[in-house]
Amino acid sequence: MIRDNGLKVSGLCRGGMFPAADAAGRQAAFDDNRRAVDEAVALGAQCLVLVVGGLPEGSKDIAGARSQVRDGIAALLEYARSLDMPLAIEPLHPMYAADRACVNTMKQANDLCDELGIGLGIAIDVYHVWWDPDLATEIRRAGRERILAFHVCDWLVPTTDLLLDRGMMGDGVIDIPQIRGWVEAEGFNGLVEVEIFSANNWWKRDADEVLSTVIARCRTVV
Ligand code: ZN
Repeated sequence: MIRDNGLKVSGLCRGGMFPAADAAGRQAAFDDNRRAVDEAVALGAQCLVLVVGGLPEGSKDIAGARSQVRDGIAALLEYARSLDMPLAIEPLHPMYAADRACVNTMKQANDLCDELGIGLGIAIDVYHVWWDPDLATEIRRAGRERILAFHVCDWLVPTTDLLLDRGMMGDGVIDIPQIRGWVEAEGFNGLVEVEIFSANNWWKRDADEVLSTVIARCRTVV
């Protein structure tokens, strides 16, 4: 269907969820991630986005979870390199450190890229990183080679749900053009991807209205 309609796949979301309580769990995660790489290759995706995972059930060892993430990415990277599929770490807002991703800043993602090398990059989502005082510096550090995806939406005040209350661009507090400027100053010229999880607002509206709003906002506040 993608090919027949002349479409392209930006990033496939998602692989990741590396940490597990035992070796069998880590192996299951690795197998699942290999399949995700295969799917990304089959779709012709530009990268596989990694939501790296949080604490294993019952654990309080976030440093241990982070080292499992490092080991998990290192192992997957060998496979992904053999198929020329870039992996993009998406740092998630720290409110997700327990259950979704214990890589929470651009600096952490850049450090992993430094350590693990070629084939690994970063998906920058303004929702997750807008608050970071080091954001401009770390985007510069990432540079053209590492910036594999750019996601936009907005941070609502107040936010009523940790996952499903993202805002339409322009309705919140993120200076999206500034962040986009930093990303594009590094030479990023890929797609700007609109990603709005919004159970009680945008997901309830007519799709044509959502799309026309997205287009209008992209022209004015992105
Ligand atoms: Zn995202």
